[in-house]
Amino acid sequence: MNPAAAEVRSSIRTVLASWAGLVSDERRLQPPSREIPTLARFLGRHIQWLTRHPAAGDMAEEIRDLARNARNLAYPNSVRRVPVGSCPESDCAGELFAHIRAHDDLHPSEIICTLSPCHSWPVTCWARLARQIHIRKGERA
Ligand SMILES: [Zn+2]
Repeated sequence: MNPAAAEVRSSIRTVLASWAGLVSDERRLQPPSREIPTLARFLGRHIQWLTRHPAAGDMAEEIRDLARNARNLAYPNSVRRVPVGSCPESDCAGELFAHIRAHDDLHPSEIICTLSPCHSWPVTCWARLARQIHIRKGERA
């Protein structure tokens, strides 16, 4: 395993063990072993309780950062292609895909139609696009 991956893995174990420790302390439970899948399952079982905990925001932020670091390490400079739905432009039968790029990528993330390159939306327009897709879905139903 490369050193950066080992470091991320170690951070994941430390952070999950820390939150599992909080759960087991405050709920007076036996703490789980420090295996990452075991820690994740333990936290998953207590997620309802955790979401009501005052530190829930901190936990979400820490885990989001870990996930981002792990993803960036596993897929450096890659573009993730995520299906979004049908193109909302009139008379277009294309499908939309979000091309998600890393923050340091030279190109911005955007949503692009499979049929027309003119049907594209930068990140700043995604909320408006979501409304358009929602409205178009309603018209088709
Ligand atoms: Zn289109």
